[in-house]
Amino acid sequence: MNKIYEGKAKTVYETENSQEYLLYFKDDATAFNNKKHDILENKGKLNNRISTFIFQLLEKQGMPSHFIKNISDREMLVKKVKIIPLEVVVRNRIAGSLAKRYGLSEGEELKNTMVEFYYKNDALDDPLMTEDHIYMMRLAANEEIQEIREMALRINKVLKNFFLQKKIHLVDFKIEFGRTEDGRILLADEISPDSCRLWDVTTGEKLDKDRFRRDMGRVTESYEEVFNRMREACV
Ligand code: UDP
Repeated sequence: MNKIYEGKAKTVYETENSQEYLLYFKDDATAFNNKKHDILENKGKLNNRISTFIFQLLEKQGMPSHFIKNISDREMLVKKVKIIPLEVVVRNRIAGSLAKRYGLSEGEELKNTMVEFYYKNDALDDPLMTEDHIYMMRLAANEEIQEIREMALRINKVLKNFFLQKKIHLVDFKIEFGRTEDGRILLADEISPDSCRLWDVTTGEKLDKDRFRRDMGRVTESYEEVFNRMREACV
């Protein structure tokens, strides 16, 4: 198969169908723009399963994504899209770069859910962007930016409620969107503990990539915990 793109955690391949790509989930973990790197056994499998579960959940709620189906433990078949180079971050609580940038402590719930945009560009360290910057850089039209914002907030509503039923706070997460050949915007990439902050409601324990970023240990064990809770029937 022809490799189209090799990312930090996934590789994208062409398939026999010109409208479909294959995503291969790797065990590589990176942080701080690749300065920290490790192999976490089974992480790829867990993220493939967790992402699949989330894309299927969103689909049931009327929010389609690039997801088509699972091919294997580590492989997902997706609709071919051209990724818009934006990292769309939704925040329900103060954490991570928001806390750091404004000198705030982590944890407080935000009165208003925030949506932030970052320019997906490693050489520039993914700088924060306003909607005017996105338009100036011709990354998306104004209507598309609004559509992306609304989709991000709708996705948040579904996922926040879902995780709360599993006794997990969805603190924040990053999503990416892509354009199909006919110009539709679809949720793409992955949604997993690599791209979300997930805190246990009772203990406050982190169940996400911060365990890797902050050398807290038990990284894949936490991802597994998330997956196991997700699979339990909702009451
Ligand atoms: N995030 C991500 N990829 C990135 C940057 C952030 O998936 O390249 C996720 C991160 O896991 C968190 C959310 O986006 O759930 C917000 O991240 P933040 O801006 O706080 O940055 P970080 O603390 O990761 O530097």
